[in-house]
Amino acid sequence: MTEKVQVLVAGAGPVGLTLAAELKRFGVNVRIVDKAPAPTDKSKALVLWSRSLELLERTGKIADYLAAGQPGHGTRISKGRELIAEIDLDGIDSPYPYALMIPQNETERVLGETLAGFGGAVERQVELVAFEDGPNGVTATLKHPDDRLEQVTADWLVGCDGAHSTVRHGLGLPFEGSTQPSDWVLADLKVEGLKPDKLDLYWHAEGVLAFFPIVGNRYRVIADLGPTDGAGRSGEPALADIQALVDARGPGGLVLHDPYWLAYFHINERKVKDYGRGRVFLAGDAAHIHSPAGGQGMNTGMQDAFNLAWKLALVIRGAAKADLLASYSPERSAVGDRVLANATRMTDLATLRNPVAQAVRNLAAKVVLGLHQVQRKMSEALSETEIAYPKSPLTVEGRHAPHGHDLPRAGERCPPEAAGGLPFGAGPDPRFTVLGAGSAATALAARFPALVDAHARPPLGGDGLWLVRPDGYIGFAGAADDLAGAEAYLAAIAV
Ligand SMILES: Cc1cc2nc3c(=O)[nH]c(=O)nc-3n(C[C@H](O)[C@H](O)[C@H](O)COP(=O)(O)OP(=O)(O)OC[C@H]3O[C@@H](n4cnc5c(N)ncnc54)[C@H](O)[C@@H]3O)c2cc1C
Repeated sequence: MTEKVQVLVAGAGPVGLTLAAELKRFGVNVRIVDKAPAPTDKSKALVLWSRSLELLERTGKIADYLAAGQPGHGTRISKGRELIAEIDLDGIDSPYPYALMIPQNETERVLGETLAGFGGAVERQVELVAFEDGPNGVTATLKHPDDRLEQVTADWLVGCDGAHSTVRHGLGLPFEGSTQPSDWVLADLKVEGLKPDKLDLYWHAEGVLAFFPIVGNRYRVIADLGPTDGAGRSGEPALADIQALVDARGPGGLVLHDPYWLAYFHINERKVKDYGRGRVFLAGDAAHIHSPAGGQGMNTGMQDAFNLAWKLALVIRGAAKADLLASYSPERSAVGDRVLANATRMTDLATLRNPVAQAVRNLAAKVVLGLHQVQRKMSEALSETEIAYPKSPLTVEGRHAPHGHDLPRAGERCPPEAAGGLPFGAGPDPRFTVLGAGSAATALAARFPALVDAHARPPLGGDGLWLVRPDGYIGFAGAADDLAGAEAYLAAIAV
């Protein structure tokens, strides 16, 4: 028997959970399946960045994330006991001006509770094994724990099924990129002798050593072990080996104990060009994987989900043309390219082997990373508050759009405080918010009731008319009297 759903989400990692929770919030009939019997118990991604926290605020659970983590305020880069540079995050222009250090299993726990709060639940030990995309829907085959096969018809399928994505393979989309030649080791354990307010990075002649504070004196330690022989290392590293590495590369006097998780890993840098085809999309690690430098992987994936959810919801409600979904891949693929390039750059810099290049790097870092402007640019990139969609088909600048030093342009993130009370996109209806005259909001909401919130917010400064998308990015920016421009923008989206 074939059951019909509006969206089938394959994979209940942080990205699938984010997507399913958002879709349920918008009243979409969604099923989310995961082949694993239980969520991960590993700390994997340790950081929720400012932009992710801003978007999570809409789900009403922000206090739970903040309670489960601790703010990280920057990075210290040292060589032994010598401090080379200190990067501060406090200048991030966000209600959350820090990196929230929170183990991935805790992030997934709160996401799961959010999903449950909207009436959803993950179907565990259910694997997507095959699918076929047709003009009227996707027919997916699900395998249950008793080997029973179930056929499901879904209007849309989203592969949030991780780096080895069955959905990506099924679409035949190449995962282009490479595997870095180095072996890496990680340890999640307790460390005595460090200050947990910042990430500590040690640039040593033999490789990099990093300490990410998790909670209290619990840390993630990561170190590169140099080029591999190609076979990679197997098994579990010994605590004594990691202590020896820390003694050799760190400041001295640090004591490691109580390991939760010890492992070797490799860094892959791969990405698809297109985040889907037809009625099938990819999000998260299924679409992009890269070095953990910068802690961007999970955050970028969760923001893929935030981007896709409101678009799917509007199309499913019959409020928007299916064309709206065509903006998903170009918007998020451009972000993925940038994140990948930055992560590669950071990793290459930290793992330089040539002693002359290391000396030049250390000297340059002392000067350059001390500059306020450089620190600000780095914080904006890491916090993902700089993400913008200037080239998106959904970004339109109307005539005489207001420009100014402090005014965001069309395609850029709208400052969260401009939303007034509840964040942009909060509540059960994904609608555009009008920043401008109340009469403009009334007129636009009268013509496009399913797309526009009738309650206007004050203009951003100066005179102007802005339409803010349900994910908080400015879709349209125009002159205060450019109602026709705003109407044309919405008419292009509306059914
Ligand atoms: C050691 C380590 C450190 C990291 N550090 C960071 C960090 O600091 N910051 C950061 O942002 N990111 C970090 N990451 C990356 C982060 O963990 C991933 O980006 C994140 O887990 C991706 O989430 P996802 O939901 O896309 O995929 P996953 O978490 O991989 O979830 C995919 C899910 O899909 C399920 N699945 C797979 N195939 C199927 C199928 N056919 N049918 C049904 N279910 C299926 C799997 O069981 C799994 O639950 C780190 C990763 C590692 C390993």
